[in-house]
Amino acid sequence: MDVYCPRCGEPYDLYYIQHEITTEERKDFWAGKGCQSCRGKEVAKRPFRAQISAVLRDVLGDDVDGIAAQTEDAEAMLGEGFWEK
Ligand SMILES: [Zn+2]
Repeated sequence: MDVYCPRCGEPYDLYYIQHEITTEERKDFWAGKGCQSCRGKEVAKRPFRAQISAVLRDVLGDDVDGIAAQTEDAEAMLGEGFWEK
């Protein structure tokens, strides 16, 4: 299952985020401080999926499987709208 950077909306496999990056990178990712794609770069407009990811993190906390599952549901419900820039 994929999760999305809460800052730029870049998709990542949940396993990658939870197991293949450093603890600090993971904390920054979930805190919305950025990912390897957007760290140190300006994000002019956060994509909708990034906002969804941030809200789910606020609501579900450390339940990352829940975040991934709810994000998948949002993508199924919103269709093209999920990928809006
Ligand atoms: Zn990012």
